[in-house]
Amino acid sequence: MRGLWLLLVLVAAANAERLFIGDQVIRVNVQSEEQLQLLQALENQQEWELDFWLQPVSTELPVDIRVPRSSVSSVTEHLTAHGIPYSVIIDNLQELLDEEKAEMVENQMKERSSRTFKFAAYHRLEAIYSWMDTLVAEHPKLVTKQEIGRSYEDRPMYVLKFSTGGNNRPAIWMDTGIHSREWVSPATGVWTANKIAINYGTDASLTSLLDTMDIYMLLLANPDGYAYTHSNDRMWRKTRSKNSGSVCRGVDPNRNWDAGFGGPGASRNPCSESYHGPSAHSEIEVKNVVDLIQSHGNFKAFISVHAYSQLLMYPYGYTCKNAFHQAELDSLARAAAYELKSFYGTSYKVGNICNIIYQASGGSIDWSYDNGIKYSFAFELRDTGRFGFLLPANQIVPTASETWLALKHIMVYVRDHPY
Ligand SMILES: [Zn+2]
Repeated sequence: MRGLWLLLVLVAAANAERLFIGDQVIRVNVQSEEQLQLLQALENQQEWELDFWLQPVSTELPVDIRVPRSSVSSVTEHLTAHGIPYSVIIDNLQELLDEEKAEMVENQMKERSSRTFKFAAYHRLEAIYSWMDTLVAEHPKLVTKQEIGRSYEDRPMYVLKFSTGGNNRPAIWMDTGIHSREWVSPATGVWTANKIAINYGTDASLTSLLDTMDIYMLLLANPDGYAYTHSNDRMWRKTRSKNSGSVCRGVDPNRNWDAGFGGPGASRNPCSESYHGPSAHSEIEVKNVVDLIQSHGNFKAFISVHAYSQLLMYPYGYTCKNAFHQAELDSLARAAAYELKSFYGTSYKVGNICNIIYQASGGSIDWSYDNGIKYSFAFELRDTGRFGFLLPANQIVPTASETWLALKHIMVYVRDHPY
């Protein structure tokens, strides 16, 4: 194991992989508006290079901050001086990253020798893409792989289409991995795609659903970002497009949709993690999805999967006004969260984005809802902050299994409530 670790460090160094030695992730449970404002000021302060895993938005929600090693003492002194209590969730981020990487390498070797795909493991983009071909080959009458366009760095973007025939049947959309560091999201997508394929024909409600509806899954909605989290920077969230006039790259692809674009809860600063981009749909990865949804014209549900925080949300984010279908969306989301909880007892908060998190403009499910897709939802998967974006791979299958109950509940409801 020690030899493997040394090898990993050498490989990382050779590849100019970003290291996070001594970086801490701290949690602040905000107790007052003053404390909130103080943290918000830190968000705009560039000197300490803080990375907010959970942004300071309300006194109801925790704030998680990755603090680079060089800033740890300044930040902790600052918080203490202002009487703001905090706790250290992750003491040395690089240790967790090394464990994650060692486990990936070990799993790769196991997969190679057994010629199987391990769902309880994180995978690189190429491995996920080639697994898609395996799934299609195993279920040729149900699953097809379609390229919907290319990313900024010219990677293909594939959707898996589950269909038993018909002509442009009403359809359910699901995307995972739009924020590239949220690895459990695409891992859950992969498990779910497999589940749909193997359960068709045995699970009565799924089978009857697929007899009248199609399911589309985009497993890697931000392929460049995802590849970059494996090759260079595990903490990368945005796309990889160049921003003119700035040294900072990337746009937050979930602030880039034409839904209250450029409004509150998105940044105009290209260096920000929530930079909305130069214009709505400027990101080719977003545009490709928009084009597919619009040319298809018969999507009835749109589900986007993120991590972390354990939330199930519906529109709106760009305004705090209730959506026209607020009551129905709320009761459906509550029922879905209830199903999810029945598996392992995992609790989800339910609500519209603005009330449950904060006002955030340019989000995908606001766009889908405003474009006539009534059943639009966003998940924030496990956990609530113990590991954050570094959820251990042994939680992938439990996360996906419980989430499947919620997804199935929504899908069956959509089938039974045509509009
Ligand atoms: Zn996200």
